[in-house]
Amino acid sequence: MILLLLLTLALLLWMIQRELDSTAREVPMPEDQCANCHAPIDIDWMVCPHCQQRLRESCPCCHKGKKISHPHCPFCGNTGKERAA
Ligand SMILES: [Zn+2]
Ligand SMILES: [Zn+2]
Repeated sequence: MILLLLLTLALLLWMIQRELDSTAREVPMPEDQCANCHAPIDIDWMVCPHCQQRLRESCPCCHKGKKISHPHCPFCGNTGKERAA
């Protein structure tokens, strides 16, 4: 009888663990992935440590790291490309 109880408990724990596992794996974080090799990256990293892909560049206007895929700096609106006047 006790064995049955333990088995039920173990099954319950296993099911909970599986549930937690699937929810943790289901969160897609495209912002935290390298666009080139899809390795998980830190949001502040400038270069992907796996493939050396440049992830961010410092804005020439406010010098904050902006994503290389963003055409405009999200901090000051600078396009990042200085036009020849
Ligand atoms: Zn990469
Ligand atoms: Zn800026």
